[in-house]
Amino acid sequence: MAYVDLCWGNDCAKCSLDLIGHDAVLSLMLGLADAPLCVACIAQSLGRDLVPFLESAHQNVARLACYRAGWARADKRLASEGPWPEDRMPSTLRMPIADAEEPDESDMDETDIEAALAVLPALEEWDAGDRGCGELALELKLRLRRFEDGQRLLLTSTDRGAPADIPAWCRLTGNALVAVQPPRFLIERRSRSTDSTS
Ligand SMILES: [Zn+2]
Repeated sequence: MAYVDLCWGNDCAKCSLDLIGHDAVLSLMLGLADAPLCVACIAQSLGRDLVPFLESAHQNVARLACYRAGWARADKRLASEGPWPEDRMPSTLRMPIADAEEPDESDMDETDIEAALAVLPALEEWDAGDRGCGELALELKLRLRRFEDGQRLLLTSTDRGAPADIPAWCRLTGNALVAVQPPRFLIERRSRSTDSTS
């Protein structure tokens, strides 16, 4: 994943800390590729504590072949550059090297999109084609930014990783994945700060 090396050593867009590869992977995954942040600033922007955020992010990265490879690459380079910076990235979160590329697995059962749309129609429909990895996440973030909480986007994505990437992105950003029938995904905008349940 070239983005990992491209970002390495650049400044965090918020606090100016030199970025490491793990910062780059999570920025890409969360749709922050245009202005990557260090993991501390990412957690802060999502209203999360750093270590629990990193643990849940790591679980999501581990399930997604493309990000997983980037993380493992970042582990390798970080280990080669000197003492492991435990305060920035717990060493327990290093990614085991995958034996082979595993197929991305969808972790959400299909649900009836038409039924969900009958309850509340989508404000916007977007056909993302086969955009994958960070490109899809970045544009999703920019589109949902214009939405109010509770408004819905009907996304069509034919990317092979989408059935795993989209649920992971929603879990990490706090938006709700209301219904899934690949290649269609119905996403409802939620702001974490106003989410008083669970
Ligand atoms: Zn930062």
